[in-house]
Formats: sequence, C-alpha cells, structure tokens
Amino acid sequence: MPAVSYKGRTVEVQPGESVLDGLLRHDVAVPHACKAGSCGSCLLRGVEGAVPAQAQLGLKDSWKARGYFLACQCRPETDLVVEVAGSGTRVAAEIVSMQQLTHNVMRVRLACLAPFEFRPGQYVSLLREDGLARSYSIASLNTEAEIELHVRRVRDGLMSNWLFDAALPGDRVHLQGPFGECFYTPGREQQPLLLIGTGTGLAPLYGIVRDALQRGHSGPIHLIHGALRSADLYLRQELQELVAINYTASVLETSESGDYYTGPLDLLIAERFQKLAGWRGFVCGDPAIVQSLRRKLFLAGMAMNDILADAFVPAANMV
Ligand SMILES: Cc1cc2nc3c(=O)[nH]c(=O)nc-3n(C[C@H](O)[C@H](O)[C@H](O)COP(=O)(O)OP(=O)(O)OC[C@H]3O[C@@H](n4cnc5c(N)ncnc54)[C@H](O)[C@@H]3O)c2cc1C
Repeated sequence: MPAVSYKGRTVEVQPGESVLDGLLRHDVAVPHACKAGSCGSCLLRGVEGAVPAQAQLGLKDSWKARGYFLACQCRPETDLVVEVAGSGTRVAAEIVSMQQLTHNVMRVRLACLAPFEFRPGQYVSLLREDGLARSYSIASLNTEAEIELHVRRVRDGLMSNWLFDAALPGDRVHLQGPFGECFYTPGREQQPLLLIGTGTGLAPLYGIVRDALQRGHSGPIHLIHGALRSADLYLRQELQELVAINYTASVLETSESGDYYTGPLDLLIAERFQKLAGWRGFVCGDPAIVQSLRRKLFLAGMAMNDILADAFVPAANMV
C-alpha cells in the first residue's frame, strides 16, 4: 500500500482510497469541503513521488507543473511526500464589513493581509480559524481594495450561519485560491456575452461583468439573475445602473408580478436566445440549474469551451 507523508506524519493509503480520505482516516487534519474535485479546498503539493494525472484535472498548467493536486481526487500508486499548497495560495485576511443584502444574503468584505491575485469571478476557499472551509465566488474587481463575497444563509449551515450570526469585522480568516476558470478573458471584445446566475450565483457574475466592461468589452452583454421569489433578488439598482448591459431579473414564483420576468429560467432563455453560436456564456449557482443551462446553451449553438460555469456544490463533509 502506498504511504503518504504529510506534516511529519506518514500514513498508508488503501487501494482506491484518496489521499484526503487516507489522511482523515488517520486523524490528520486537511482542509476540505466538497470531496468531489470541485471546490479546491484540499489543494496540496507533491514534493516526492508521482501524482496521478487524475488528481490534477482542471488545474492550471502552471499549477500542475508545480506539483499541485487535489487530495480528494488523488489515488496514489506509489509513495508520496506532500505538503500544504504554497504560501502564495493561502493568505490571512480580515473581515472588514458585513452588509445584509436580502433576508438571506450577506455581502462580506475582506482585506487580505498579503498580496492575493485573482480574476473577478474565480472563487476562494474561506477558512475559519478552526479549519472549517467553504468555497465562495469573488464579486469584486482586482482594482478594488477589498475582496467581496456574497454568502447565502443555508439552514443549519456551519459557515454561512457563523458569518450571519457570530462573525464580526476584525475577525481573522484565511483565503486559499483563487480557483476556477469562470472569469472574463479579453481578446474577443465584440463577442456577445450571456451571464446567468441563480441566487448567490450572481456574485461571480457581478465581478465578471464589471471586469469585462473595465477591460473595454464592446459586444452586447446580457445578465440574467434568477431567484425563487422577488425578495431573493439583490443588487438590482447597481445592475440597472450598469447601462452598458442588458439586465433581467427573473423570479420563479409565478404568483408574483413586478418589473421582472416571471417563470422558469430555461423558458426565458428559450424565448430570448434561440441562436447562441459565437456567444460566450457564464453560468453560476445551483448545480442542477447550472448543468441544465449549460446543456441548453450548447444546444442553442454555443461552443462548449465558450461556456464557463461554476456549480455551487454543497460541501460533503465538515472539518
Ligand atoms: C465553486 C463554488 C463556489 C461557491 N460560491 C458560493 C457563493 O459565492 N456564495 C454562496 O453563498 N455559496 C457559494 N458556494 C457554496 C458554499 O461553498 C457553501 O456550500 C454554502 O455556503 C453552505 O455552507 P455552510 O457551511 O453554511 O453549510 P454546510 O454546513 O456545508 O451545510 C449544511 C447543510 O445544508 C446543506 N446545504 C449546503 N449547501 C446547500 C445548498 N446550496 N442548498 C441546499 N442545501 C445545502 C448541506 O448538505 C448540509 O446538509 C460555492 C460552492 C462552490 C463549490
């Protein structure tokens, strides 16, 4: 059985078991969340031994070259010596402010205590002092002084309820990342963009759309924010003030009416965007909706590698 050495401990990993599960089984604490290769919280770096390619799927080439891998996806065949991901990817940060945007969404602003490079729309792993880790998308621009996150309160949720009920400005946390490829890349400034987010799936889109505008995007930009009820919509005024974009709020609850679309998001997309060849799409939020919308955009002609998505997969295990 391959042995994995980490922080001075060496543990045996059973055949087919991931490095993460092997370490946790031996009570070695490793930050983690989704255990599905999505959130990036369990990023480690291989120092000795062969890291299987599967454990590096989706990571940037530069990260692969430096030996980074996802412990939850790493089923080693040989002995490995691993360490925490490089210091450049984890920084201490301080909560600066918290502003309630709706009955269940909080805008959390954080100041990093060391340089932290990211692209608006990417996500970070937010680590509480006790090691609890959850992923949140970045809504701020990298020209802004603070990192902005939008956190939805989840029933019995450890991190979200801590942020709503206990955390205070001045509290120390850590940020790890950034992760994900859901961000604006310049180069095709006239390409039409379609951004669709459900719930706090608006957070990355709020970053991406302002980044695109700041970088001189000149093609049409459509941003759709889907919510269950009108009370769940947020940042409406800020988005309406971005005159260069076509912003649509959409509410699923059909008994409500107002200055928003009412009905399912996929109907709205089908009504307004039949042909999407040549467009670029960004889809974020509820995993089932993200999956279904990605498919719809593809069937409407959008190239798969022009569809950038982040599904907010819930964490499977608590630290
Ligand atoms: C790439 C990525 C980006 C994300 N970005 C954001 C973001 O910008 N804003 C944001 O608010 N969240 C975001 N999330 C989700 C976030 O990481 C947490 O899962 C969420 O905040 C709940 O954490 P918690 O500790 O409060 O709840 P937990 O303690 O993890 O969960 C408590 C209970 O609620 C269930 N649960 C957790 N999440 C959900 C959910 N979404 N729907 C239904 N049940 C759930 C759990 O299964 C569990 O039973 C993102 C997730 C990923 C993977």
